[in-house]
Amino acid sequence: MHQPPVTALAATDPDIADLVEREARRQHDKIRLIASENYVSQAVLEATGTVLTNKYSEGYAGKRYYEGQQFIDPVETLAVERAKALFGVDHANVQPYSGSPANLAVYLATVNPGDAVMGMALPAGGHLTHGWSVSATGKWFTPVQYGVRRDTGRVDLDEVRDLAKRHRPRLIFCGGTAIPRTIDFPAFAEIAAEVDAVLVADIAHIAGLVAGGAHPSPVGHARIISTTTHKTLRGPRGAMLMSDEEFAKPLDKAVFPGLQGGPHNHTTAAIAVALKEAAQPAFRDYAHTVVANAKALADALVERGFDLVSGGTDNHLILVDLTSKSIAGKPAAKALDAAGIELNYNTVPFDPRKPFDPSGIRLGTAAITTRGLTPAHMPHLAGWIDRAITTDNPADHEKIATEIRELLTSFPMPGWA
Ligand SMILES: *Cc1c(COP(=O)(O)O)cnc(C)c1O
Repeated sequence: MHQPPVTALAATDPDIADLVEREARRQHDKIRLIASENYVSQAVLEATGTVLTNKYSEGYAGKRYYEGQQFIDPVETLAVERAKALFGVDHANVQPYSGSPANLAVYLATVNPGDAVMGMALPAGGHLTHGWSVSATGKWFTPVQYGVRRDTGRVDLDEVRDLAKRHRPRLIFCGGTAIPRTIDFPAFAEIAAEVDAVLVADIAHIAGLVAGGAHPSPVGHARIISTTTHKTLRGPRGAMLMSDEEFAKPLDKAVFPGLQGGPHNHTTAAIAVALKEAAQPAFRDYAHTVVANAKALADALVERGFDLVSGGTDNHLILVDLTSKSIAGKPAAKALDAAGIELNYNTVPFDPRKPFDPSGIRLGTAAITTRGLTPAHMPHLAGWIDRAITTDNPADHEKIATEIRELLTSFPMPGWA
C-alpha cells in the first residue's frame, strides 16, 4: 500500500487512487534503471504533500508581492542556505520549476536572441535545452554543437576549443543526459576563458554525486551551475541555479519575474529536506555506492559481451550499444520491461539508426542504490539483462520478473509498505 495511505483520495477519486497504488507497486516490484530517476525518502515525499501547495509567494524571501509569508520565507531561506552550504556556492535560487525552465533562465540572464551558444549535441549525450534544433534554445539562439570522439566515445576538448574559437559563443554548456564519464570542468573553463564565454555546468544528472564527493565539483570553474533536484540528488522534481555573486541578481530576475510566477512552495520545502539529507555522512556513502554499482554492472556487462560507449563508466550511468547483440534499443527496452527491468532506449554517438528506434539503451544505478542493492548484486543483474534480451518468449520474461520481485521484497521502498 502507498505510504502515507491515500484514504481521502480513494474516497474522492477511486480511479486516480487506484492508479497511484498500482504505480507504487510497480515502482516497488521493478529494477528501475532509468538514469534520471530515483526514489525520494519518506520525508521528502511528505513535504511534497503538504499545505504549502496552497500558498502564493511571488518574489523572494523578504520581498514578496502577497502577504502571509511568515512561514514560507523561512522555508525558502532554509533551502537556499542548505544549497549554498552543500555545494559551496555564493548564491542559490531554488525556484525554477524544473531543469528545462532553469536552463531557459540561464539564457535570459546572460544572452540575447540570436547570440551564439554552445552545448553538447543531443545525440551525443547533451540535453535539448543546450541548443538542440527542436528546442526553443535552438530556435531563438544560434547553436553551436559539440560531440564525442568516434574512437573514444568521450568529449573531444580539441573540437570544443576549435568550435568555440570559430563561433565565439557567449555561453558554453557542459554536462548532459547520457555522459558516462567525468566532466572535465577545469578544461571547459579554460576554453570559456579563451573566448570570453560564460561557462554553465548543467549537473542535473550528477548533482548527487557532486554533493556526495563522488564526482568533481564545477564550483570555481563554471560561473553558473544548473541542476535538477530529482535525479541523483534524490529530491522532489524541481531545479536550482547556483552562481557566483556577479550572476546572482541576473539569475534571480530571470527566474522571477522573467520566466515564472509563484514558486511551488511544497517543492521548495521538499528540496530543503533533500538538501539536508544530502549533507549527511550517509549520503556520501550513497553517492560512492552509486558509482561502485555502476562500475560493477559495467564490468559484468562487458564480461557478457556488451559494448559500452567509452568502454565503461565513471559515474552513475552506462550507455550500451546493442549492435553487437543483434538487437535494437527499443525492442530490448520492451523485453527488459516485460522482465521487470525498467530503462530507456537511447541513441548512441554516431548512431546509424533513427532517434525513435536507436541502437542503444541507457542504464543508471541511482534508484537501485537507494533500494539498497550493492556491487555484489550486479553480476546477477547483468545476467538477467542478458537473458531478457536474448529471448522473446513471454514466459522467460515473466520468470525473470518473478525472480526480481522476490529479490526486491528484501529491499524496502520509501512510499510503499
Ligand atoms: C534532466 C535534465 C534537464 C531537464 O530537466 P527537466 O526537469 O526534465 O526539465 C536539463 N539538463 C540536463 C543535463 C538533464 O539531464
